[in-house]
Amino acid sequence: MKKNIICAIPFLSLALSLQAQAKLLLVATVPDLVDITQQIGGNLVYVQGLSRGTEDIHQVIMRPSFVTKLNRAEGVVYLGLTIEHSFLPGLLDVAVNPKMRADTVKGCVGPGCIDCSEGIKILEKPETLSRAEGEIHPQGNPHYNVDPANGPIIARNIAAGMSRIYPEHAAEYQKNLKAYVAQLEAKLVEWRKWVAPLKGVKAVSYHKDMVYLGRFSGIDFIDTVELKPGIAPTPTHLEQLVKKMKEQNVKLIVREQQYDAKTCEWLAAKTGARIAVIGTMANAFANTETFIKFSEHNLKALLSAMGKEPG
Ligand SMILES: [Zn+2]
Repeated sequence: MKKNIICAIPFLSLALSLQAQAKLLLVATVPDLVDITQQIGGNLVYVQGLSRGTEDIHQVIMRPSFVTKLNRAEGVVYLGLTIEHSFLPGLLDVAVNPKMRADTVKGCVGPGCIDCSEGIKILEKPETLSRAEGEIHPQGNPHYNVDPANGPIIARNIAAGMSRIYPEHAAEYQKNLKAYVAQLEAKLVEWRKWVAPLKGVKAVSYHKDMVYLGRFSGIDFIDTVELKPGIAPTPTHLEQLVKKMKEQNVKLIVREQQYDAKTCEWLAAKTGARIAVIGTMANAFANTETFIKFSEHNLKALLSAMGKEPG
């Protein structure tokens, strides 16, 4: 009994202090969304993250701490398009929070659901929704957070969701949103200049998650090391990939840091292409905990692999 009371004290004191400061308690599925939510909420939000930046978003294992966090939250900020399918639907079921519940199509339904994909121009949208043959991108490519130009849309979705949950602070959220988007837009102008030398460079990535970054940078991603999204490469596929890379003079291999280094090194040795190691979420590397730092790190890695300097 005494032990239970002692255990409950930290939660109770957190709840009381949040109440006293009228902070909105939110959960965000990935580190970049934790950062943007914090930027919009300032000292009016307390946001906790779920997956780590180093994980494969398609294979995040649900940890018990996720349930506690989601159960107490007023809302959940997520990327959507089923990218969190390995943990979010199960978590919503287990956490039993009346403000948000799992939905097979929308991912989450209820007043606490903040879907950051709203208004994103979704690329590679299939004509029919199917998970046949291991399809893990059934609603189109969900890796839109790897494109820095999608940052303002994500930020606006978060501000709108927070204002819906906590309308008393809508003006403050809007003020913070304006400042954050202005900061991001200034960076985007700078980054568009950086990527000019990458236009038309042919590349392959490990997973099919570069379509949005390809659009931003001008890099032409012609194929993937994986056979299909979520399906490991076969020897035949790798042989064909080497041939294709040589024929098309592919100079760049983008390895997302969570994927196999050895296969990429083998491919580089066979083709003479250079490897850029990048993150698909913030905090995949040290000092990349914000969306801006994460985006900048990736662009620098791409430039560096091609022997270019930023700016
Ligand atoms: Zn994917």
